[in-house]
Formats: sequence, structure tokens, C-alpha cells
Amino acid sequence: MQGRLTDADQLSAALTELEDQYVWAADSSYDTATAYERQARALGDERLITRARLCQANMLMRMGDVAGAARQIWALHRWAADHDDRVLQARTHLVWSNIHRHLGDAAQCLEHAVLAVELLDESATAYMHVWHRTKLADALGLAGSMDAARARYEQTEVLAAELGEPKLLLGVLNNYAYTEHAAGEHERAQAVTNQLQLIALEHGLELDPAGLDTIGAIEIENGNYSEAEQLLLEAVRRHELGKYEDADALAEYKLTLARAQRFLGVTDRAQDSLDRSRELCVSRGLGDVLVRVHQEQAELHAARGDFAEAFAVHKIFFAAHHALHSSQREAQARTRQAMFETTEARQEAERFREQARRDPLTGLRNRRYLDEQLPEMIEQCIGLTVAIVDLDHFKRVNDQLSHNIGDQVLIQVAKILETELAAVSPDGFVARMGGEEFLLALPGITGPAAGTHLDGIRVAISSYDWSELTHGMPITVSIGVAGLTDTNTASQAALLSIADRNLYVAKHAGRDRVVAGKHLDGRHRSYRNSANAA
Ligand code: GH3
Ligand code: MG
Ligand code: MG
Repeated sequence: MQGRLTDADQLSAALTELEDQYVWAADSSYDTATAYERQARALGDERLITRARLCQANMLMRMGDVAGAARQIWALHRWAADHDDRVLQARTHLVWSNIHRHLGDAAQCLEHAVLAVELLDESATAYMHVWHRTKLADALGLAGSMDAARARYEQTEVLAAELGEPKLLLGVLNNYAYTEHAAGEHERAQAVTNQLQLIALEHGLELDPAGLDTIGAIEIENGNYSEAEQLLLEAVRRHELGKYEDADALAEYKLTLARAQRFLGVTDRAQDSLDRSRELCVSRGLGDVLVRVHQEQAELHAARGDFAEAFAVHKIFFAAHHALHSSQREAQARTRQAMFETTEARQEAERFREQARRDPLTGLRNRRYLDEQLPEMIEQCIGLTVAIVDLDHFKRVNDQLSHNIGDQVLIQVAKILETELAAVSPDGFVARMGGEEFLLALPGITGPAAGTHLDGIRVAISSYDWSELTHGMPITVSIGVAGLTDTNTASQAALLSIADRNLYVAKHAGRDRVVAGKHLDGRHRSYRNSANAA
């Protein structure tokens, strides 16, 4: 038994290493993940099996088999959701996001990237915290929200720097530079790459060839052809040292190198580089790079003044470009088919949406749901009461019992709130606002009636038999109430702010009570049934 446990721990650590690997060598990582899956099966550990399979799906996508990755990911996500495994769900959403990026669907790419960040908690690794946010910034950039992307990259930079992870920081900056470059913001891209190179130098870190290729492409856009050539020569050199296994990338580096050399006017060197890139494309079947090789060849002929040749090659480029485009569209259609061919898949998509609006600990609605629903309720309701419910001295539960018991208490409070609310206001809802704070919305219930109902809810919590969980420590809540008639603006912000102030008053008046009414004019209605207050 002891031996098995140790094996599982070791395998888990090995998987974490594979998951948190910044430079992925897709083929060999795929093999490693497959070997890990075998070990996990021998151990009979479903979670480890799922993690190993998710690594495989990720690698499949990186190797270009997007449809294969898409087919696997449904089952993995379902397992993670059924087992309430936040970290695994966050990881599956990140792979989803990447799949949609490959498919050119910026909106879906962004939606999944948001979920991949939202699901992170303290059990996620530092790598995930940084990397998932970076991918969110990438997705924002892809969706055209450059300002939002920049703000995210900058936050993430700080996070990576605070963590003392310079390698990861370089990864963040590399993506940041690429996003600026792709958006045509060449000067901003240059500023980011300057920072990137400085940090690499400072920490004695070597940039990987892919990073050098990005920087080189940016230098070309800014007219620094000689720097670009040097960078690309270095990328090729580092690649040829064999430390970086992504074999196909060499064709890309040679192509960028050829471009830099053409601009420099050293057309013979450019032709050599381009020939080498073409050979690699042909021997490895890299259709998309080959199309760009044709395009560069046409440019190179033109640079030499050989316009007839340039025109002939341009026609080849044009035909190849169209052929590639239609085969890509076919591949995308196949992938989409793989994703949506079953009704089950559609239901899963529904579930993603639903899950994003639920709090994973208690199963209650979350802040996101609240922000969507409350404004609508305010608009439609004749009378509406909202109440913020905050646990009293909840820190003591965590400190004196345990965080785990604290969680159990939150789950039980959530259950009581749901049951009680369903009895008094079936059209209302309970949401967890965060931490130990909940929000109740009671449409159609106002004034003293609302106060009485809410006091009933307070009593239901304090009189629940907590002894098994808390061994005698009482659990009570304070409730701050606001009704539409208390506000002039009838907005969510106004309602919540009044409820919050009333909650504050309830806390200061001694907790375990309900406070309603307008705070500003000093009139409060306090509901507390003394029979139950002991
Ligand atoms: P007060 O009566 O003034 O509200 O006191 P309090 O101790 O409840 O309030 P405070 O805001 O100081 O502490 C709230 C605590 O709730 C701190 C935080 O650790 C804990 N908490 C927040 N979210 C969770 C959670 O998901 N699980 C657990 N176990 N504790 C949580
Ligand atoms: Mg509290
Ligand atoms: Mg609180």
C-alpha cells in the first residue's frame, strides 16, 4: 500500500513537470505522456490517467492533429467536471482555447481562456497562474482587444517576476512581443523585445530559437536587417546544437533569415537560406511554410531585377496559397465536425456555460451570474429585495478548526440558504459573492415581509445543529438588506451598496441580526427574534 502511494506521488510529480514545461518538444513529450498513462493505468489512478491523457491531447494539437485533440478533450473535461477538479478543468479549458486559436475562432479562444484563468485557485501551480494569464492575454490580442491584452501581459509580467521565474517571464514577454507584432504594432513589439533581451542577459539565460525568430521578424519590420540576420543565424546555430527538438521550426528560421538577407541586399546568401528552407519543407511536408517560401522567392527574384521569374514564381505562390487555404478550411471543418458531431458535445457546451456561472465549492450561482441576472431583475421587478449574508467571525472557524471545516460550513450554509429561499421566493436566487459572503435576491417581496423572511433564514442558520461539524462553535450570520424603494437610481450598484452598509451596521450592532432600511437618514429596521437569539 505504502509503495503504491509513493509511486502515485512520483508519477504525479513527473506529470506536473511535463505540464509545467515551458519549451515543449511535442513528439517526445507525447511519448512521455503515453508512458505515464500506462503507469497510471497500472496504478489504477483515474486522475493520473486523465492528466496523462490531457498532456497527450495538448501534444497532439501541437503536432498539428487538432481534430485528434478535439476528440479527446470532451471526455477529459467531463471527468474533470464530474470530479470537481478545478485544476484539471482549468487545463482542459486552456487546451480548448488553443484548439479554437488553431481554428481561427477568436471568440471561443477567448471564452475558454477566461475560464482557464477563472478556475485557478491556490492548488494550481505558479506556472499555471502565470501561463494561463499569458494565454488569456494572447486571446485578448487575437480578439483585437489590444489594450486589455497589454494590461494582462503587464500584470502577468509582475507575477512572473515576483515568483522569481525569469524563464517564465521570458515566455510571457515573447508572447507579448509576438502579439504586438501580429497586430502590426512594430515599435511596441520592439520595445518588448528589448526588455526581453535585457532580462535574458541579466539572468544569463539563452533565448530559444523560436524567441530569436520572433525578435528577428520584428527587427525586419523596423528596418534593422543586419541585427535580424545575426539573430536568425544564432537561432539556426542554437537549433542545430540539437537542444530544441521542434525539427520543423528550422524551415521557418531559414525563411526569416532569407527575408533579412534580401532586405540587406545580400541576395546570394538569401538564395542559399531560401533553398535550405525549401528542402526542409519538401522533405518534411510543411505545406504552409512552403507557400511562404514561394512568396519569398518571388520577392527575391524581384529584388534581383528578375521580374519575369518573379512573376512566374508569384503565380506558383498564388496557386499554392489557394490550395493551402482550401485544405486548411477542410481540416477546420473536420475538426469542427469532431467537436460537434454528437448531441452530447452540444450538451457539454451548454454545461461549460452553466459551469462558468456556478461557484465550484457550493454549487451556488456565482458573481458572474449575479452580474448578469440582477440588472434584469431590477428592471423587471415591481418590488425587489436583496440581502447580503455574511458569516460572523468566520475566520475563527478556519483558525480554530480548519480550513476544510470552514469549507464544509460554507457548503452547509449554502444548502440552508437555498432551501430557505426556495420556500419563500421560488423566483429568487442565492449566489456566492465570494469568500463567506452570499447574496439573496427576493423578487416580489418587500418591506417588513422581507425582513421577517430574512430573519427566518438567519434563525435557520443559527439553529442548525452544527455540533458535528464545529464541536460547539456557533455559526451565525449577519444580513444587510436593501429594497428598490431604498434607492433613487434603482441600479445594482446602489442596491448592493445599501445592503453592504446595512451589513456593516449589523456587524457593529453585535452580529447575528438582520438590518434593513435606509442608512443615510439614520433609520434602521433591525429584525432579531429574541426567542431564537440565545
Ligand atoms: P466578520 O464577523 O466581521 O465578518 O468576521 P469574519 O472573520 O467572518 O470576517 P473576515 O472578512 O475577517 O474573514 C473572512 C474569512 O473567510 C477570511 C477567509 O480566510 C475566509 N474565507 C474566505 N473564503 C473562504 C473559503 O472558500 N473557504 C474557507 N474555509 N474560508 C474562506
Ligand atoms: Mg464574515
Ligand atoms: Mg466578509
